[in-house]
Parts: sequence; structure tokens; C-alpha cells
Amino acid sequence: MPMHIETLSLISAVQSLALAILLWAGTQGGSGSARTSLKMRAGALAVESAAWGMLAAQAWLHPAQLLLGGNALNLVAQGMSAVALRMLLRESLRWRTVLAIGVVGWLGVAWFGVIDTDYRLRVLWGSAAIMADIGLRMQALLRGGLRRSSRARRALLVMCSASALLLVWRNGQLWFDFNPPADIIQPDTVNYIYVLLSGMQPMFLSIGFLLLYSETLRSELHQLARVDSLTGVKNRLALIETATQLLSHAHRVGRPLGVLMIDADHFKSINDRFGHGGGDKVLLALVGSIRGTLRAGNAIGRIGGEEFVVLAPDTGLEQAMVLAERIRRTIESTPLLVEGHLLQLTVSIGAAAAEPGAQEDVMNLLQRADAALYAAKHAGRNRVMAADPALAGRRLLA
Ligand code: GH3
Ligand code: MG
Ligand code: MG
Repeated sequence: MPMHIETLSLISAVQSLALAILLWAGTQGGSGSARTSLKMRAGALAVESAAWGMLAAQAWLHPAQLLLGGNALNLVAQGMSAVALRMLLRESLRWRTVLAIGVVGWLGVAWFGVIDTDYRLRVLWGSAAIMADIGLRMQALLRGGLRRSSRARRALLVMCSASALLLVWRNGQLWFDFNPPADIIQPDTVNYIYVLLSGMQPMFLSIGFLLLYSETLRSELHQLARVDSLTGVKNRLALIETATQLLSHAHRVGRPLGVLMIDADHFKSINDRFGHGGGDKVLLALVGSIRGTLRAGNAIGRIGGEEFVVLAPDTGLEQAMVLAERIRRTIESTPLLVEGHLLQLTVSIGAAAAEPGAQEDVMNLLQRADAALYAAKHAGRNRVMAADPALAGRRLLA
């Protein structure tokens, strides 16, 4: 099949530029590190497009211009791609390593291209630099283990491996072929295959990058939909999900699960006195106090305006009462400073526990804790009441 290096390069240049514009357009109006990484990827594609453009326009360039300029652009593009991917994966960016790889790579290519000319060593040196950038990508992709990696991560790993294999193949051909090409622009099968396949890389890598980008956005949305925006603790949805998981685990291992339902006393009067903004500050302080008394492994969530739930694995009713009393006392003895006034906040707490053997569902368990909270409010507030374990399995509240 008749092919021209220049034509192939021109197609790659246009394709990379089109992808750069597409990715850049997709980042408009957004913020956050995922979007910055997409911009960086778009920038890398634009630089890569310029490198392909130089190869396509080689007839109008001095060989040294092509060699020094083309390789500089290619190394910059590879480095930017590696940084973009690491940014998307939330790994350390390794700017300095990337810079060192680029500088050392380019100096070696320049040395073997202009001073001590040796085409095979020049290609080997440049390939080693690109390989190092691929290594930085693969290391970030492999973080957390191959088994836990997502579909997009795996696709990108395959693409990175293919890029590395292509480099190995090209160098192998140059060193072990009887009649290797003496330059990238020489019409030769090795050059055709290399230029054709490496020209396809921007497209495949961009598809992988976009897959990973959408996966990242989806998981960010998933997180966002589960966090209470005011206090940063789990919201109702996340709390019920966690409670369901903890309860089924507790049933499986035959251990209890403690649940505390906490409600601030007379919170309306705090809002009346300090306004909604002041009330919000009190809520933040309240969450801070509760968190400070919890153990690792306990979970906290906000299920209503000023109502919080604590989930304590491996905690029976008696221990749950002890924990609840500790929280109640901590809050009672920690005056809060709101807009220059010292405020004495108290809470009422209902405690319940899913006991091993009793196959109770989550909603029932939460309702028992809520009923106990209601009883605590009724008994005068600022106290802890336990749900009657004998009532497990019955709906207490409509
Ligand atoms: P009780 O001792 O019976 O619990 O009395 P209370 O005044 O705390 O009554 P209740 O728990 O029914 O009222 C909750 C109040 O919390 C009502 C609402 O004005 C306030 N609230 C709900 N959500 C928010 C919020 O996000 N920020 C603020 N500042 N206040 C909230
Ligand atoms: Mg209240
Ligand atoms: Mg309430």
C-alpha cells in the first residue's frame, strides 16, 4: 500500500488538533481538578498536533529544525499527557520528574542528532524518555492494585502498554534489521508502521482519558449526593446506606450494632435569637463536638434539620447508652461562642441496638432509636433514653 510519511503526519496533526478543540470545548464553564486535567490533556494534544505538523511540513524545514523542534514538542506533549492523567487520578503530579525527563530526553536527542550523529542511539534515547513518561502514567493507573482498577483504568493501561510495545518494536527493528531506515522521514516499512500507529495514539488515549474523566465525574457526583453540604457529614441517603451495610455485617458476624438518634433541644429559639446563619454555626459546632467523642469506625450522619444519627458497630445497648451519655455530657459542658454570646446547648438522645440473633431491618432500628429520642424529649430533654429491646420488630412511629 503506497503511503507517505508526510500525509500520515498531516492526518495525525489534524486529528490531534480536532481532539484538542473537542476536549477544550468540553471544559468550558467548569472548575475543579478533573476539568483542569482535561484542559491539560487538550493542551498536550495541541502541542502533539504541532509536532505532527512539523513532520508533515518537513520539506520546508531545515533537518536540524525538524529534529530539535519536533522532538521538543513531542516530549512536551508526552510530559503534559502524563501530568494530565496523574491530575485526573489525583496522584502527585511529579512536575519535576516530568521536566527532568523532557530536558534530559531532548538533550540526548540533540546530542545524537547534531553533535555525535547516530540515528539509532538518538531514537533509543528519545524512546527511553517517552517510556519514562509512559511509566509515570502506568504507575498512577496501577495505584490501588490492578484488581480494584476500573474499566477506564484498564483500557488506559492496555493503551499505555501498546505504546510501550510500539517503542520497543521500533527500536528492535532499528538495531536488529539488516536494512534499517536512517531517518524518520525516509520511506521505509518500519517508519510507515511507526508513524501510522503512533499517529493513532492521540485518538485512543483521548478516548481512554474521556472514559476516565466521566468515571471520575460520576464518582464525584456519587460522593456529592451523599454528603450534607452544611456540616460535611453523611446525609440521610448515605447514612441509611451505611446503616444497611453495617447491620447486615453485624447480622453476619453475630455482633450488635448501636444506633443513637440525637436532636438539639429548643433549637428554634437559637434560630430566633441568632438568625438562621447563627443557627448554622451552632450546628457545625455541634457536629464537631459529637465527632470529637466518637471512636474510629463509628459513623455520623445528619438526617434532619438538627437531628443526627450515630452508628456504632460492635456496640450493644448498654455501651450505646454510655457513648450517648458521653456525647450528651460533652455538649452540655462545652459552651458555644455565637456572635459574641456564650450559649449553653443541650441535646436529647435516643439509643437503640440491633442485638445478634434478632433479624431487625434498618428502618425498624432507626424508628426504635427515634421513639427513644421522643421519650427523652418528653421526659424533659437533655437526657439519654434507651429503646426497649423487647419492642424490636414492632413499628413504633408511623
Ligand atoms: P426540641 O427540643 O423539641 O427539639 O425543640 P426544637 O426547637 O429543637 O424543635 P425541632 O427539633 O422540632 O425544630 C428544629 C428546628 O431546627 C426547626 C428549624 O427552624 C431548625 N432548623 C432545621 N434545619 C436547620 C438548618 O439547616 N439550619 C438552621 N439554622 N436551623 C435549622
Ligand atoms: Mg430539636
Ligand atoms: Mg428536630
